Amino acid sequence: MSNARNKFIAGNWKMNGTLSSLSEIEVIKSLFGETTYDIVILPPATLLAEASKIVAGSKIKIGAQNCHQNISGAHTGEISVLMLKDIGINIVLLGHSERRTESMENNQLINLKAETSHNCKLTTIICVGETELERKNGNTKKTIEYQLLNSLPKTFTEDNTIIAYEPVWAIGTGKTATAEEIHTAHAILRNQIKKLKGTAVASKLRILYGGSVNKENSSEIFQIQGVDGALVGGASLLSADFSSIIKSISR
Ligand code: PEP
Repeated sequence: MSNARNKFIAGNWKMNGTLSSLSEIEVIKSLFGETTYDIVILPPATLLAEASKIVAGSKIKIGAQNCHQNISGAHTGEISVLMLKDIGINIVLLGHSERRTESMENNQLINLKAETSHNCKLTTIICVGETELERKNGNTKKTIEYQLLNSLPKTFTEDNTIIAYEPVWAIGTGKTATAEEIHTAHAILRNQIKKLKGTAVASKLRILYGGSVNKENSSEIFQIQGVDGALVGGASLLSADFSSIIKSISR
């Protein structure tokens, strides 16, 4: 992955998409195959191998939405990083709030998964974000600092990791954080990285915003200082919407 805070846009399809949805990836490839941005599509596991073939030779990357912390063994239903690498996948999303809640993934497990991924040379997108209650109680800073500190493994570098700030209350709800809330949260996270790894790493690390990003609000979000791109859920499913979001980087 290129860095120097190159803009990074990821589309998380979640549990959506069948073989016919691969045509959306074909369109994104035809429009942005030579892009200078980092564009990653994260389809469900069933589509990873085919999607990976479609984007081969272009600048578009395909990522997985999860991996196991072990590289092989008796873990029924799981997918290892070696299996991902086998089909050309070098990026994995970890710590998404839906996995934290629905699959009870905690920071310690996310940390293990990230370490295994880094050891096998995968790039990780690690998500953190406060719930509505945590924000209401004034605990946003404490929550995201704690998640970051505990989810990041020792193997973390500015090149192998991208952080996604995703306030839980903004995911899939149509509620977007304000520019000030996004700016403040990103500054908290960058400062935490500075304390952990120093100024040089903190200044190079990319931090994305995620939470109801769409073609109407993306341009404003991309202009917020400290925002290096977006993790997009619902609005990444259709290439028409996702391409408008990508194009809005330069608006
Ligand atoms: C996400 O899946 O990470 C996400 C932010 O979803 P949405 O854009 O639909 O809110």
